Amino acid sequence: MLQSMIIQAPAKVNYRLDVVGRRPNGYHDLRMIMQRVNLCDEVTLRLVAQPGIRVTCGQHDVPEGEGNIAWKAARALLELSGSDQGVEIEIVKQIPVAAGLGGGSSDCAAVLLGLNELLRLGLSLERLMEIGVTLGADVPFFVFGQTALAEGIGELLTPLAKVPTAWVVLVNPNLPVSTAWVYQNLQLTQRDQLAKLPNSFENVAELCDILGNDLESVTIPAFPVIDEIKRSLVGLGASGALMSGSGPTVFGLFEDEATARKAAADLQQHHNWFLAVAETC
Ligand code: ATP
Repeated sequence: MLQSMIIQAPAKVNYRLDVVGRRPNGYHDLRMIMQRVNLCDEVTLRLVAQPGIRVTCGQHDVPEGEGNIAWKAARALLELSGSDQGVEIEIVKQIPVAAGLGGGSSDCAAVLLGLNELLRLGLSLERLMEIGVTLGADVPFFVFGQTALAEGIGELLTPLAKVPTAWVVLVNPNLPVSTAWVYQNLQLTQRDQLAKLPNSFENVAELCDILGNDLESVTIPAFPVIDEIKRSLVGLGASGALMSGSGPTVFGLFEDEATARKAAADLQQHHNWFLAVAETC
């Protein structure tokens, strides 16, 4: 019987993030278009005889015990299985932490999907998504596994009919931007109607027509460098650029690999930022 598994857990970017409303419990109703990109954490899962859950990561800003969202995923599935086995989870981070790229949520989804197989639970994707949303709002999207319109707090997912592949340059200026701070400082704009979004895009230029993130109204005034990065990416050939999630990572969308790699190399020469070139997946 299979006892271990290695899973690539991708990052995400938000092509669109509209904050639609605020709930009494502090959560926000969102409308997002979410896309996976192949900058991946590597998550290794092992079933072991010794009971308990052990997470190793070796990064000072990522908790290794119960505080790790991957630990919580393992506990949820172990409880459901009734198994007395233990689980070891080793995470090699490539996705910057607290960067708006969904790294923790993706690790969590990888554990849900992986342990569902290792423990032979046979849970449906829908069930895993239900468990996922109790752990983090972006987790259902990573379980879903395809480009999607995400509504509610992020758990109501609709696949897009057609999306072009794109090259993505990710730029993280390593600023301390907390998701909670961003939402606390967001002024909800009064809108009678949300602009309608297409669910089919023929090419990267069409995608760029809908790029938008309400959270930039909080982060850009506080950290103007986010806007400078967007302008630089467009100046270096990106068809469009936007902050992802609650930031601070900015991504540029490119139609071809060579231009994307050259843009990243140019930025890397002049700045001490995290830079990565990835493809949508
Ligand atoms: P969010 O927008 O949900 O805050 P993010 O993509 O900006 O997500 P993450 O990299 O997921 O940020 O990390 C958010 C916080 O979660 C960090 O402060 C980190 O300490 C904690 N955390 C818990 N588990 C993990 C994990 N497996 N990987 C990264 N961070 C984790």
